[in-house]
Formats: sequence, C-alpha cells, structure tokens
Amino acid sequence: MLILGSITGLQAGAIIGLPPVLNFGSPEVKARIVPEVFSGKKFICLAISEAFAGSDVMGLKTTAKKTEDGKHWIVTGTKKWITNGQYVNAVIPLLRAP
Ligand SMILES: Cc1cc2nc3c(=O)[nH]c(=O)nc-3n(C[C@H](O)[C@H](O)[C@H](O)COP(=O)(O)OP(=O)(O)OC[C@H]3O[C@@H](n4cnc5c(N)ncnc54)[C@H](O)[C@@H]3O)c2cc1C
Repeated sequence: MLILGSITGLQAGAIIGLPPVLNFGSPEVKARIVPEVFSGKKFICLAISEAFAGSDVMGLKTTAKKTEDGKHWIVTGTKKWITNGQYVNAVIPLLRAP
C-alpha cells in the first residue's frame, strides 16, 4: 500500500498532466517539458478543479486573458485539490478564455 501510494503520488500528476501537452503542446513546449517529466527531473500537474467546480467543468470560473502585446496570459482565479500542485514545475490549467 505504501509503494502504491508513493508511485501514485509521484506519477499521478504526470499521468493526467502530460496528455494535454503531448496532444496540444507546441513543439517548443513539448521539447521543454516532456523529456524532463519522463526522466523524473521535473513534475507536472493538471489543474481543473476549483472550490466552485469539480465534476461540473462548465462551472469553472478561472479566466485567462491575453495581454495587449499578445505575449502573455493573465490568469485570474483559483484552483484546488490539485495532485502534486504544491511542488510542480509546470501547471496545465483548464481556464475560460474569451
Ligand atoms: C485525491 C484527489 C486528487 C485530486 N487531484 C486532482 C487533480 O490533480 N486535478 C484536478 O483538477 N482535480 C483533482 N481532484 C479533484 C477532483 O477531480 C474533484 O474532486 C472531482 O472532480 C469531483 O468534484 P467535487 O469534489 O467538486 O465534487 P462534485 O462535482 O460536487 O460532486 C459531488 C457528488 O455529486 C455527484 N455529481 C456531480 N455532478 C453530477 C451530475 N451532473 N449528475 C449526477 N451526479 C453528479 C458526484 O458524482 C459526486 O458524488 C482531486 C481529488 C482528490 C480526492
């Protein structure tokens, strides 16, 4: 049970966090994130749940808006109950964007 818990704790973030990167990430993002996560050097998480929405993803309130120069995203809101969220190097969030 201890081993299962440890493996789950270490890998769960990657198991649910990497598929969006592999399927939708740009070549640059994939090259930066995927090898380091697979080698165990870096950790990743998938951040969907919020205090206001879990199963009901249509209820998500966290938003993403591009800056005027189009170079960055401003994220406003909160995420909660995110496996590995406290120490990851990369967060894959589900957000509302215009
Ligand atoms: C150990 C753990 C790790 C987690 N890790 C992550 C993570 O890495 N990333 C992340 O984003 N989230 C994570 N979560 C959050 C998890 O995904 C949510 O708890 C889950 O989506 C349920 O949401 P909720 O807690 O808001 O419950 P609710 O969505 O409020 O559901 C409560 C109850 O209502 C039922 N219910 C909900 N909607 C309906 C419906 N339409 N019809 C019928 N019944 C319904 C549910 O089946 C459930 O029994 C984690 C949770 C736990 C416990």
